[in-house]
Amino acid sequence: MNFSEDQIQRYSRHIILQEVGGVGQERLLNAKVLVIGAGGLGSSLIQYMSAAGVGTIGVVDDDIVDLTNLQRQVIHNTERIGWLKTESAKFAISLINPDIKVVTHSFRLEQTNALDLIKNYDIVADGSDNFSTRFLVNDACFFAKKTLVSAMILRFEGQLATFKVGDSCYRCFCGDTTNFLYNDIPSCGQAGVFGAMAGIVGSLQATEVLKEILKIGDSLSGNLLVIDALKMNIRKVRLKQDKECKLCGKNASIHDLSIHPVCQD
Ligand SMILES: [Zn+2]
Repeated sequence: MNFSEDQIQRYSRHIILQEVGGVGQERLLNAKVLVIGAGGLGSSLIQYMSAAGVGTIGVVDDDIVDLTNLQRQVIHNTERIGWLKTESAKFAISLINPDIKVVTHSFRLEQTNALDLIKNYDIVADGSDNFSTRFLVNDACFFAKKTLVSAMILRFEGQLATFKVGDSCYRCFCGDTTNFLYNDIPSCGQAGVFGAMAGIVGSLQATEVLKEILKIGDSLSGNLLVIDALKMNIRKVRLKQDKECKLCGKNASIHDLSIHPVCQD
């Protein structure tokens, strides 16, 4: 790839890193990452991936920028209240790095569209704010054989995990949740979230996505990173594949996305 003079300058701090170099930067520019949710986690994810030169970024979100979002969703701003989050994110990316192709998907991910969407991307980064989406993304990535970097934040805590096909999946970690019991866990809207957690965990998620594209360092796959901001403690917990997992276990009972609800609205 021939970098333009502007690109050589823009990515110079990457290019001088031995682990990235021109070859790595080219890899980033050729990569296609799908971001689920242009909210708090999505804000850091999208901004750092854009700055890093991830060439194609897809953004899925059907929501509109609201005043209550701005305490943590720093990709949006007061002027853009009322915009579709996808369009607000696209505008923000265009200001950060005009190299990036942004594909907006302004609809809710569901069983009927998840696979078709995900198959167009190399890696999926899930920053959604609810368990039903998180399970849908997990299952769709499993069937589409895509690496998933999944994160969540609530109150002062955050979690980050990478799921690769052949390793554990989100269901191994959460157990039998086909009835979506996890929806009983409060959302950020109900329990609150410390705004800077979105920055910390979203930046870690971006780091992990970039590492996966560059194929450098140790993948987080097979581990769960748990971040506790009140104790300022980060720990890594081993995630074992559940042999009885209904999705990736040897007697799997989930063979397609039909267990997931179809949105009525
Ligand atoms: Zn599993």
